[in-house]
Amino acid sequence: MEALIAERVSKCYGDAETRVCALNGVSIHLESGKIVALLGPSGSGKSTLVKALGLVTPPDAGDIWMRGKLVVREGRPIADTSRLRREYLGFVFQKANLIPFLTARENVEIACEIGGEPNPRARAAKLLEYLGVTSRASAMPATLSGGEQQRVAIARALANRPSVILADEPTAALDKA
Ligand code: ADP
Repeated sequence: MEALIAERVSKCYGDAETRVCALNGVSIHLESGKIVALLGPSGSGKSTLVKALGLVTPPDAGDIWMRGKLVVREGRPIADTSRLRREYLGFVFQKANLIPFLTARENVEIACEIGGEPNPRARAAKLLEYLGVTSRASAMPATLSGGEQQRVAIARALANRPSVILADEPTAALDKA
């Protein structure tokens, strides 16, 4: 079954003089259980496609299907997109974007809570352990290394047990392991 489908998605930025068309009728079918990598030169529209698939920035045109349901029709969201993001999707960006006034643990815990996890504390602890950052759980984001911040962000992305994880250059700050 396909977890996420985009059909003929287009997106342009700017007005007449500064117009840049990042996506021009792109279709992509992402199957459950698969890892798919988008490769292309800088500026070729990868981030724009990830943001459209993640219901962050809707496209100008085209359809998006999630869980077999049409959620964006001809560029217009027709479903509760914040709910779909909360229940179905996880995001990892190049920058960790942690909430600066919460500790590493609290950043993950709040995502577990929003995701409806019955025991957010226990789930956050487990995820931080899985990502190897338990010893830094009480630290504020600004005191973490780039790689540690990114591992906390990955723990947060897993908090709601997402069906699909969208990642935009997620490993730039990480070592190979
Ligand atoms: P990639 O992720 O492949 O590097 P992007 O999707 O970020 O590519 O960008 C595709 C094109 O759209 C680029 O030419 C970029 O300058 C332009 N672009 C991206 N975001 C915006 C924006 N918010 N406003 C104007 N132009 C943008």
